[in-house]
Amino acid sequence: MKNKLVFASANSNKVEEVSMKLGGIKLLGLKEIGCAEEVPETSDTLEGNARQKAWYVYDKFGHDCFADDTGLEVLSLDGKPGVHSARYAGEQRSNEDNRKKLLEDMSNELDRRARFRTVICLIIGGKETMFEGIVDGKILREEKGKGGFGYDSLFVPLDNSRSFAEMTIEEKNILSHRGKAIGSLRRFLEGK
Ligand code: IMP
Repeated sequence: MKNKLVFASANSNKVEEVSMKLGGIKLLGLKEIGCAEEVPETSDTLEGNARQKAWYVYDKFGHDCFADDTGLEVLSLDGKPGVHSARYAGEQRSNEDNRKKLLEDMSNELDRRARFRTVICLIIGGKETMFEGIVDGKILREEKGKGGFGYDSLFVPLDNSRSFAEMTIEEKNILSHRGKAIGSLRRFLEGK
């Protein structure tokens, strides 16, 4: 199994969280490989963005690496905000404004079904492998819970009564899109 891998993310919290789930593999973030620039993310799909970020780092820095992208897909909004989840309410990327816009856009909607989807692109020795993690659930009519981030206080996973924002990180990781995608990545790497 590999013992070192680059995670193409500038978010050190995310690198730490994912490190915990990957066990024995030492993860390096972008800062640690001397990548100070913003990695381009201009695709209109989650898959496209994950591939774009991973290949950028592989081609420019020559490290085996992986990148992820996540979106909230609401059925009654035809899959929106999807790949635009971070900028749903505008370029300022405010989580609070994004939640407010989502509640407004769904104010008259009875069908509250939604899912989070994470896509990961891994590149080892120039060979690409994709992974996906999905959690189905529903969008609440008002925020519930103080933990988490992003849309967590509005999302209740299927067969649960608590929102992601009411769960511990460990509880959320077992159920979540990102936790599932990282689990698949880990099993793949363990088989290497
Ligand atoms: P990213 O691809 O991880 O940067 O996520 C894109 C956007 O989706 C973020 O700005 C968050 O608003 C939202 N998001 C991603 N993961 C989660 C999550 O686990 N809970 C709630 N919102 C999330």
